[in-house]
Amino acid sequence: MAFFDDVKRFGKNLTDKGKDVIEITKLNSQINAEKDKIKDFYVKIGEEVYKAYAAGQGSAYDELCAEIKQIEDTINELTAKVLELKNATKCPNCGSEVAKDTSFCSKCGTKVN
Ligand SMILES: [Zn+2]
Repeated sequence: MAFFDDVKRFGKNLTDKGKDVIEITKLNSQINAEKDKIKDFYVKIGEEVYKAYAAGQGSAYDELCAEIKQIEDTINELTAKVLELKNATKCPNCGSEVAKDTSFCSKCGTKVN
């Protein structure tokens, strides 16, 4: 019967389309994973440029690095305020937050006060 043949064919097309959708989803997630790898490299490149700047080696990105430095200074000021409000300090070794009334860092064991 033609009708059932049509239904079968329609069903088959749907199955193929379903496979395509799965394949496309797979490929898209692979593409996104590859794009994430590139982003990781962008971050690494940026870190290297900034490390060179911070170490006093000039680069073509000095202005951008100077802006990062300013932001870092702001973050340090804000962090200091937060620590002050929490009555805490920073571990000189690992940078963890340590309560002012404790003598050792709970993370790395360094003597704090
Ligand atoms: Zn520590």
